[in-house]
Amino acid sequence: MSGHGEFDLIARYFAPLATSPGAYGLKDDAALLAPLRGRSLVLTKDAIVEGVHYLLGDPPDQVARKLLRVNLSDLAAKGATPHGYLLACAFPKKVDARWIAAFARGLKHDQSHFALTLLGGDTVATPGPAVFSATMIGHVANRAIIRRAGARAGDLLCVTGTIGDGGFGLTELRTPQEGLAAAQRRFLIARYRLPQPRTRLGPLLAPIASAALDVSDGLVQDAEHLAAQSNLRLEIDTNRVPLSPAGQAIARRDPAAGMSALSAGDDYEILFTVPPRRLEALKRAALAAKTRVTVIGRATRGQGVDVLGEGGKLLALSVRGYDHFTR
Ligand code: ADP
Ligand code: MG
Repeated sequence: MSGHGEFDLIARYFAPLATSPGAYGLKDDAALLAPLRGRSLVLTKDAIVEGVHYLLGDPPDQVARKLLRVNLSDLAAKGATPHGYLLACAFPKKVDARWIAAFARGLKHDQSHFALTLLGGDTVATPGPAVFSATMIGHVANRAIIRRAGARAGDLLCVTGTIGDGGFGLTELRTPQEGLAAAQRRFLIARYRLPQPRTRLGPLLAPIASAALDVSDGLVQDAEHLAAQSNLRLEIDTNRVPLSPAGQAIARRDPAAGMSALSAGDDYEILFTVPPRRLEALKRAALAAKTRVTVIGRATRGQGVDVLGEGGKLLALSVRGYDHFTR
């Protein structure tokens, strides 16, 4: 990248995003973060890789926003309110300054949308594809994080938003399906490129949910993680799994493709359990956060995840989710 050293890049594109006084305009080695009274910090980190989590031609501002949003989704699932983040960028040596400028605009946009601030990071060049990683910092009332462990037999299993759109969107980008309306295709692709982390609902779930996790690698596989950590069995009723209108159109034409919604990644919704007595409180929280919540099953004694079809019949699902190391 001619004319731009590492330090120019930081000063030009990233320093303007580091608005908190403790970030010292990115002119020091590290940032200072004063502890918040009565709050506990919640930390998470996600990396995204060109060609894996986004495609080479994807708009850079959306790549940046996706990076923040996949992390925000983890915080939301833990009931945390976001505060700020550290950012590592490994840019290919020949990256265009315009690409970085657009990337930084995307960060700026979502920083203001989600009330976030940039606290620091690192900028390096790589001979390989681009890699971006953010460490996201949020907070909850004193230790009141929502764990994956904590669900009880009898709890209802719930999910936010709609399931499968991100996976369908990725399929559309790779091999467009016939018979899908242009607006539906655009909707699915947007859901793949730009997850909607449930940051408004997340903190409201802290006193309501008994367990929660972020659905990012496939509903069934992620449900298995929750079941394992809570040491119980989860039942998912496929007929109740919420699909968007575009997802429903796909499922109607091709039921097998419809079923793939259960195991495709890129949902970034919250899967959580709720004791039945808190259902009213949940409804109020969903309304307050303007977030759709659907009961899709329940927790029982036992282990693993059972996926039930028509008439409660147990379905055999070979693919249950995405794993970076087994594909
Ligand atoms: P080091 O020499 O230890 O690698 P740097 O010179 O890379 O440190 O970093 C200088 C400052 O710029 C630090 O405060 C660091 O957190 C910040 N920084 C570097 N790259 C980024 C980035 N991509 N985003 C945000 N802050 C960054
Ligand atoms: Mg450095």
